[in-house]
Amino acid sequence: MDSLQDYDYQQLSALVAELGVPKFRADQLYSLAMRHKSYDEGSNLPVALREQLKGVVRDRAVEIVERLEGKDGVKKYLYLLADGNIIEGVYMPHRYGDTLCVSTQVGCRMGCAFCASGIGGLVRNLTAGEILGQVLAANRDNGGTPEKRKVTNVVLMGSGEPLDNYDNVIRFLKLVGDPRGIGISPRNISLSTSGLADRMIELADSGIPVVLTVSLHAATDRKRSALMPVNRKYPIARVIEAARYYVRKTGRRVIFEYALVRGENSDRKSAEELAALLKGLNCHVNLINLNPVKEKGLSGVSPEAIKSFISVLESKGISATLRRSMGGDVEGACGQLRRKYLRQKEEGGQSDAG
Ligand code: SAH
Ligand code: SF4
Repeated sequence: MDSLQDYDYQQLSALVAELGVPKFRADQLYSLAMRHKSYDEGSNLPVALREQLKGVVRDRAVEIVERLEGKDGVKKYLYLLADGNIIEGVYMPHRYGDTLCVSTQVGCRMGCAFCASGIGGLVRNLTAGEILGQVLAANRDNGGTPEKRKVTNVVLMGSGEPLDNYDNVIRFLKLVGDPRGIGISPRNISLSTSGLADRMIELADSGIPVVLTVSLHAATDRKRSALMPVNRKYPIARVIEAARYYVRKTGRRVIFEYALVRGENSDRKSAEELAALLKGLNCHVNLINLNPVKEKGLSGVSPEAIKSFISVLESKGISATLRRSMGGDVEGACGQLRRKYLRQKEEGGQSDAG
């Protein structure tokens, strides 16, 4: 059963017509959905209508089941889906507005060597309403409404590969951008991809100008394939060509994510290879020190190594900054909290995450 949050305003109007109730109920339901309220909180809805609706469509797509507060105002959420699956997200306060990191799939099938999300493979795609539901739930949880938003920016960097769930993600972008609802525009949304080149081109052509972030992590096919199996299907040359196309088509620079992994991609030569690869491309490099994942056995690098990596890039005219790894104290890295939760469930213990 879908939730109200999967419906756009037109579809909701059609549903209301089908149920044979007056048109203005569509506005009430839409407002309820955008506030992440339950039917039973909709005091303006007749009880009989609430009961009728419960048999047709769920009121909310996700439910917050755990909230972990870390340093610097960061919150980590675990959300429960209607089928019992768990996904996670991170809320990050910033000076210019608060950012929510959302998941797009339960698990992921890309199998990157350093990532916790891919460990159990892909379980399933999220619906557009389940992606939107994370935004609406976190907005409410932090005291926001659609009119007075707390969540002003969204990054598609939680678990899952957004471009592997392309249609639902595009639909989500339309739903979340609707000014009648929470109205977050594509300019305030970053989509991070492991480099599905064909879909990157499709996205450029979609006319939805999100900020595109590409997880590169290495500048030669040998090194990248070792970290990211997807590189065998979409090697670096194709990823860069698609990124160039995105810049041409949208007029916006592309961000490259590069996680520094000890012994894999973090020496001087790797920095020089990266600089050569990105020369002349309108882009920025976000470096991040690898967040070690228990199951993976890879580690990050020293602060000195980060500094010298950045200085090589800068000396070659590539702009680069170190991304603060927010929420490290609350298993902030992609997929880690869910893994911990599942591990504890498997071991039969109670989650100590809360
Ligand atoms: N699937 C998409 C988006 C989700 S992952 C993608 O891969 O881009 C979001 C970002 O977190 C990616 O850049 C990913 O490479 C990075 N990431 C995953 N695990 C990490 C870890 N253990 N340490 C640092 N970055 C990690
Ligand atoms: Fe999937 Fe992204 Fe994790 Fe790779 S880094 S396994 S693409 S979520």
